[in-house]
Amino acid sequence: MLKSPPPGDLGGYMSEQELSFRDRPINLNEKGGRKWVYAKKPSGKWYTRRTILSWFMLLFFAGVPFIRIDGHPLVLLDIASRKFIIFGAIFWAQDTFILALLMLSFVLFVVLFTVTFGRLWCGWACPQTIFLEMVFRKIEYLIEGDYKKRHKLDNCPWSTEKVIKKTLKHSIFILISVAMTNTFLMWFIGSEKWLQLISEPIAEHFGGFIIMIMVSALFYWIYSYFREQICTMVCPYGRMQGVLLDSKSIVVTYDYKRGEPRGPKSSGDCIDCHQCISVCPTAIDIRNGTQLECINCTACIDQCNKIMEVTGKPVGLIRFDSEEGIKNGHKTIWNARNKAYSVVLIILFSFFIYTLLSRPVVETTILRTPGLLFQENDDNTISNVYNIKIVNKTRDDMPLEIRILSHKGEIKMAGSKMAIKDQAMFESTFILFLPKEELKSDKTKVEFGIYSNNELLETYNTTFVGP
Ligand code: SF4
Ligand code: SF4
Repeated sequence: MLKSPPPGDLGGYMSEQELSFRDRPINLNEKGGRKWVYAKKPSGKWYTRRTILSWFMLLFFAGVPFIRIDGHPLVLLDIASRKFIIFGAIFWAQDTFILALLMLSFVLFVVLFTVTFGRLWCGWACPQTIFLEMVFRKIEYLIEGDYKKRHKLDNCPWSTEKVIKKTLKHSIFILISVAMTNTFLMWFIGSEKWLQLISEPIAEHFGGFIIMIMVSALFYWIYSYFREQICTMVCPYGRMQGVLLDSKSIVVTYDYKRGEPRGPKSSGDCIDCHQCISVCPTAIDIRNGTQLECINCTACIDQCNKIMEVTGKPVGLIRFDSEEGIKNGHKTIWNARNKAYSVVLIILFSFFIYTLLSRPVVETTILRTPGLLFQENDDNTISNVYNIKIVNKTRDDMPLEIRILSHKGEIKMAGSKMAIKDQAMFESTFILFLPKEELKSDKTKVEFGIYSNNELLETYNTTFVGP
């Protein structure tokens, strides 16, 4: 038989009177101090679904740095080299526009998703929730037990049992935080570079080592202490809900038409047992309506369904539904707002795919070497020095050649061979000699052609200065 939390305790957060109205986050007291949330361990159909999904997400987070396609990482966010590989597609600094389109599409997708399905991302896919609820809290349940035992342990004087349990829990938390930091780092530098880094003496990377310790400490602090406050006070996405949600958005909601009037002996289906509050990781009462703190984790759905089974009432008193759905039985997820967002998203994403597929296979930049003007030579020519940078966006090595297309001139490249490895960058310097009679003014437009195996890949226009 399921039991309610002790009266007046409610798992350690607020009194019944306080729950009826509040003007501050529920985990803060009237002086702004922290009230620790002792959430009951959730269980049920929705929790099992979330757990299975979280395994995939955790596997994805830990496994991605090791996945290779034709020897290249699946995902690499190499900020230092300004090179990003996203699901096999490589983006260089020169692809900022394409990346911006991708980011814009992603933001619009998040908006569309939120307008339609509320804060589903937070409860089901957000790394913060997955690590807190599916990793750290599960370890806590295992070592310290469910909410009443944890509450008792935290409030009892120090004993051998308390020292052992707390030491064990926090040691595991620290180990996981360090592992998370290292995995996180691999997303930015790749697994090979990470392996090389950790096999070298710490003294060679002392600055990086200190940063790793600081990031690990931050993770440990978040998951051992700060916890749900990230979702309720820090995360900007949570704050945006107020403007993104409308009465047709599907959210975790309480069917007040069925539930009210509440109470053990009243005619409504809600027996006012507070079980939905006891499992809530942010300690709110969903019967007060959609709130900023609700991360749509579904723990209250599972818990209320158990109560409904015990009381012999249909399940779904708390369920995924919209305000309109509860009020008027509105069932479709489509409305003018999300239809309009969908159209814009399809257009934007199609444009992104088009620009991605139609981008040139190489990206060339040719600039006159700074600080150098021109040189008059004995053979009646004028010369300019240029710096050249070519990015290979294909997965093949390429022999390269540069030709002057607009004038009869000669190019002398520094070094003997112009070749570029797959997804690499070629950088060099060359001198362009033009006969004096080819120049009509002190600034002449010149056009270069970049060839590979006699095939013209790209043209590039720049200026040539003369007397
Ligand atoms: S909504 Fe369900 S779980 Fe919550 S108090 Fe009512 S009956 Fe209990
Ligand atoms: S109200 Fe329900 S869905 Fe929202 S955070 Fe609390 S338990 Fe999760």
